[in-house]
Amino acid sequence: MKVKVAFFDFASCEGCQLQVANLEEEILDLIEIVDIVSFREISDIRLDNYDIAFVEGSINRPMDEERLKEIRKNAKILVAFGSCACLGGVNKLRNRFERDILLKSIYGDKNLKDNPFFNSEKAKAVDEVVKVDYYIPGCPIDREEFKRFVTSIALGKKFELPNYPVCVECKKKGNPCLFEEGKFCLGPITLAGCDAICPSKGSPCLGCRGILEKPSTEYIREIFDRYNLSYEDLADKWNMFNFGDRVWRRE
Ligand code: SF4
Ligand code: SF4
Ligand code: SF4
Repeated sequence: MKVKVAFFDFASCEGCQLQVANLEEEILDLIEIVDIVSFREISDIRLDNYDIAFVEGSINRPMDEERLKEIRKNAKILVAFGSCACLGGVNKLRNRFERDILLKSIYGDKNLKDNPFFNSEKAKAVDEVVKVDYYIPGCPIDREEFKRFVTSIALGKKFELPNYPVCVECKKKGNPCLFEEGKFCLGPITLAGCDAICPSKGSPCLGCRGILEKPSTEYIREIFDRYNLSYEDLADKWNMFNFGDRVWRRE
């Protein structure tokens, strides 16, 4: 019996699902080992009997919380899919502002206060609402990591995220360090697994996969000393994805 999988989206750009849709011919390999029973981006089929629910997006409104709880009830395994789901992601930027101020600045004087579609106080990560069994972070997710996840689960094996920083992957590839070019890179504190895709193309890591539970303070101190940087410089950079309020914790 093949494992049945379904994809669901909440507040997101759907870029993580698109990573799966873009697997193209490799989708055929995927459907050799799993049955995709719901995936709006690639098929009209919608079935409620799934084993694994991939949940993309952050959770913003009471109606989203209710829907997510239903998905949780139906799924044997629930996977937070992408950084919006794992961490709240870029959607948490809005948590800095009052809802009324946001509504007014975007929609002007329209009265949307009592409209349930706009009833959104704070963006939340999926595990702030329901239990999450696995996390696949990234903005967007890494396709290789997704394939590794599906293969592990289909074979009944445990899936684990790396527990080391992006710098490890970056150094393995022999990239020059971007601090040497005067750029600030979050690789030393960010969970690896993306094969250091950004620094490999000359862009500093922005921390989209989340902050490691225990980054090496010694390494970070060394960087601060060598490049005359401070904790404030670091905190300024991690705001986009983390706000400093989410780190990976291992049970
Ligand atoms: S994690 Fe990034 S790519 Fe994925 S849905 Fe959110 S914003 Fe889009
Ligand atoms: S460029 Fe970034 S990820 Fe690569 S070694 Fe330097 S700090 Fe680490
Ligand atoms: S290098 Fe950093 S920002 Fe880029 S994908 Fe990897 S974790 Fe995300």
